[in-house]
Amino acid sequence: MAENKNQKAEKRSNGAKSAVNGRKRAKDSISKKQTAKKAQKYNGKTEQKKNDKNNLGKKQSKNRQTPEKSVKIAFLGGLNEVGKNMTLYESEGDMIIVDCGLAFPEPEMLGVDLVIPDFAYVEKNKDKIKGIFITHGHEDHIGGLPYLLMNYNIPVYGTKLTIGLIKSKLEEHKILDKVKLYEIKPKGKIRLGVFEVEAIHVNHSIPDALALAITTPAGVILQTGDFKIDTTPIDGEVIDLSRIARLGEKGILCLLSDSTNAQRPGFTPSERTVGESFERLFPKADGKRVIVATFASNIHRVKQIIDVAESVGRKVALSGRSLENVVATAAELGYLRVPDGILISIDQISRYPNDKLVIITTGSQGEPMSALYRMAFSEHRRVEIGSGDYVIISATPIPGNEKTVGKVVDELLKRGAEVVYERMYDVHVSGHACQEELKLMLSLAKPKFFIPVHGEQKHLQKHASLAESMGISPKNIFIADNGKQIELTKRKMTQAQDVPAGQVFVDGYGVGDVGNAVIRERKRLAEDGLMIISAVIEKETGKLIAGPDVISRGFVFVRDSEKLIAEARLVAQIVIDECIHDGYIDWGVIRNRMRDDISKLLYDRTKRSPMVLPVITSV
Ligand SMILES: [Zn+2]
Ligand SMILES: [Zn+2]
Repeated sequence: MAENKNQKAEKRSNGAKSAVNGRKRAKDSISKKQTAKKAQKYNGKTEQKKNDKNNLGKKQSKNRQTPEKSVKIAFLGGLNEVGKNMTLYESEGDMIIVDCGLAFPEPEMLGVDLVIPDFAYVEKNKDKIKGIFITHGHEDHIGGLPYLLMNYNIPVYGTKLTIGLIKSKLEEHKILDKVKLYEIKPKGKIRLGVFEVEAIHVNHSIPDALALAITTPAGVILQTGDFKIDTTPIDGEVIDLSRIARLGEKGILCLLSDSTNAQRPGFTPSERTVGESFERLFPKADGKRVIVATFASNIHRVKQIIDVAESVGRKVALSGRSLENVVATAAELGYLRVPDGILISIDQISRYPNDKLVIITTGSQGEPMSALYRMAFSEHRRVEIGSGDYVIISATPIPGNEKTVGKVVDELLKRGAEVVYERMYDVHVSGHACQEELKLMLSLAKPKFFIPVHGEQKHLQKHASLAESMGISPKNIFIADNGKQIELTKRKMTQAQDVPAGQVFVDGYGVGDVGNAVIRERKRLAEDGLMIISAVIEKETGKLIAGPDVISRGFVFVRDSEKLIAEARLVAQIVIDECIHDGYIDWGVIRNRMRDDISKLLYDRTKRSPMVLPVITSV
């Protein structure tokens, strides 16, 4: 039953700008690496599409059957990485998208703020796309949306909280008024073109998360989204396993399931256990101020902290912009009920004694600009850490963040604070399903085909082997990669033509204008610095009017390297003398020789290769 009247996506305006054209795409190197034996084991049988199709064609012409209906699934992100999830479904000329996330930059992507999927394939198919469904409000699922919706007029479907979070994001980018957002509810169904998409409630580390059952002409595809099975969730809404079981009974063609925790045995504990830990820990902070760092979007965690604070008579202050935003949105939409008078502004904390205060803060990953980081390094406007503080880090470092989290913990300890983090007490649980939950999902959905998604290669492979252990034939399992496309019919899964997929860097207002070449330059500047040689030459006569002068940045300190600087100046002078004959000046040769000769001199003297930039002005 359709729940939303706007079943038919409005005709796309032709005004959608092809801003992705000409974008420099960073090549996704991962795709080439996917040669692991295990992946081949699962994917081997699917490489024969051409032959299969030919065979199928022959049979069909004999029997005069119409071709089997099919659906194609293209992956633009989220595979061999945790981040920028984006999947496209195509059948009979219609397309829908599921999720459009961002990834955070790797340390070597200097100056890059965030990474989004490459939208070249969206550009190519913009007239077919009927809508985009968002599974939940995490950045790796919604973070790329503003950049997509800036250029394409695609209606967006999501639950109330997800849409609320998307709204504030679009507002920030000043494009809210031109985007069509539609709320869907669990159990609701939306028909867009040949697709019917049913929303199914799942548990996760943010409320209002969905799995999507996508009915296509070829069969039903269940995309779990990020999920865990929490039988005692904070909001009382247990994942709708019975719906998944019923769909499984009727027949699910293909399951795309969250692989994040595929390597972890057992079950992910309930979010409620974290609240119980807070109940045990808060009394231990007797006489001290409690500071809890957590993910801004984990609204149920925030609720539990507030509830325990209330029960022990403490006020709660929030620190961190993203936390304040999410809490405001969640409270406004009814996902977080805050008892009257318990929240105070961070500016008011000096009015309360330590033992009457809880501060909830961002920065559980040690992010350098975050509130907890600023507290630890005495850069926070209102919070000075000392021996009167009891700090709980209610999160696990995401792989890669261990060092920065360790640095923050060290700094807090140095200042005399007591610090509690995950391994010491159960102050965090994951939002993703562990092996037993993944197996339960597989056993209820009973899919014919299986594609593990949302994870690095090791997670995807482990998830594939779990599926195999449950009786799914390896030839019906596919370990995909960004840029891969799978075609499914009722009977078979084949690999279709690859689609463009890669990383687009966002730096400030620039989207895609920073490519690998710019990153290489930044690395060089960061590693060896810059030397500028400037000179002014009279055009008519070829006479040197000013310079050559030498400026060094990040290479050597000029005052301590007078000899080297003098040598560089001398080399520049020689180049100028040699390149000017009887008033004839070859500007290109001057610049190139100056760069080469000075680079050589600097390397001979220092074994460093700063960027050498000749600036020759003619007057
Ligand atoms: Zn998530
Ligand atoms: Zn995710």
